[in-house]
Amino acid sequence: MNRTQLITSLVAALIIVAVSTPTSAGELVPGTGHGILFDGKVREQAGVPEGVVQALWDMQEELTKWRRDFHRHPEVGYKEVKTHAYIMKVLSEMKFEPKSFGPTTGIVLDVPGRDKSLTIGIRADIDGLPITEIDDGREYRSEIEGYFHGCGHDAHMAIALGLAKALADGTFEAPVNLRFFFQPAEELGTGAQEMIDAGVLDGVDIVIGLHVDPTREWGRAGLIDGTFSAFANAFSVEVTGLASHGGMSPELGRDAIVGAAYLITQLQTVVARNVAPPDAATISVGMLNAGTVLNQIADKAVLMGTMRAQDAEIYETVKERMTEVVEGTSKSMDMPMKIELLIEMPGVVNNPEMFKVILPSLQAVLGSDNVDVYSEANMAGEDFAEYSLKRPSFFFWLGIANEEKGINHTLHHPAFDIDERALVVGVAVQIQNIVKLAEHHAAGGKF
Ligand SMILES: [Zn+2]
Repeated sequence: MNRTQLITSLVAALIIVAVSTPTSAGELVPGTGHGILFDGKVREQAGVPEGVVQALWDMQEELTKWRRDFHRHPEVGYKEVKTHAYIMKVLSEMKFEPKSFGPTTGIVLDVPGRDKSLTIGIRADIDGLPITEIDDGREYRSEIEGYFHGCGHDAHMAIALGLAKALADGTFEAPVNLRFFFQPAEELGTGAQEMIDAGVLDGVDIVIGLHVDPTREWGRAGLIDGTFSAFANAFSVEVTGLASHGGMSPELGRDAIVGAAYLITQLQTVVARNVAPPDAATISVGMLNAGTVLNQIADKAVLMGTMRAQDAEIYETVKERMTEVVEGTSKSMDMPMKIELLIEMPGVVNNPEMFKVILPSLQAVLGSDNVDVYSEANMAGEDFAEYSLKRPSFFFWLGIANEEKGINHTLHHPAFDIDERALVVGVAVQIQNIVKLAEHHAAGGKF
């Protein structure tokens, strides 16, 4: 089957899906100009064998099973031991030869393509979060108390496995070399770098990835031409005071709690007064630990937070001001304050040529009305950035919400969930993206 046939087949199969699914995506997404998932005419014009994408839709049960298995057994960064074993097993059963990769729990799978002059990396992150999932009767609730796939990485893994399955079944033939990376520890911000240090990008020309998005209905996608995600860091400030009795001799101490409180208030002025209104940055202190007894002046306070900015320049400005504010507050409060950057994560910067290919690709599968092109980087930190620094890369949002069913909680919310039909959509759009990127390359296009 040639590429055109494949794409048309994709169209045809998606049509069947829309027709045979009780709630079609078309009912959920208003507007006109829908693509192959929603528009009968577009489907008709395609006029091709139905089998190829019907096979993708037939995969929904399996995709759902994988996603739920991952969901029930979340593991945090570098501890994804069972997750690792599960992925290895599923891929091996497909007769692939996945390899453990890097010093911890990474996996790489290479699938040779017809044209070996381009290799596309496909990244899926595999870690969960130390968050307790809401107990609202969902049957696939996390079985590991205090841990939860609250960022949808379970879905990312299922979609990558679905893509592998489509290749294994012959539903989809790799037009170019594909390298799947199953990457640990995205939430820690260090997993991508670990994979890169181990050589995951050796021989890889371009990289694609996606993230589930609860702000968009399933069947929709969002993409940006440029910086996708914030330049971000995690910081801590240690405030050193002097202990004394809180009732009898406060004048002999230096109150680390009061110092920390002033500092937190001062930090809030940085974004308000050093960042121009149209630009975006945030500073949030999420932890403050101080004191051991109620009537003692605390001699130590440690606060921790995150700072994010929409581009590198704003990031540097805010970082500099933060440091100055810490130094200034330290002087005015007469107590040492030491700021430390625990992690710095660059933004994901999308490749403009890949944008030109992936936009029409998503529009073809989902319909142009269902693809949002937006212009402001979001404040999520995402370590896919590390790949995007080294290779032309593209990262986009895949809608997974279902407002009607109340599936609309934010990432990291204890009630976060997805409409699992989005798993099929994820596989379909990634197939189309790969086909279109390969076509661009074959036509002499550069990235
Ligand atoms: Zn995530």
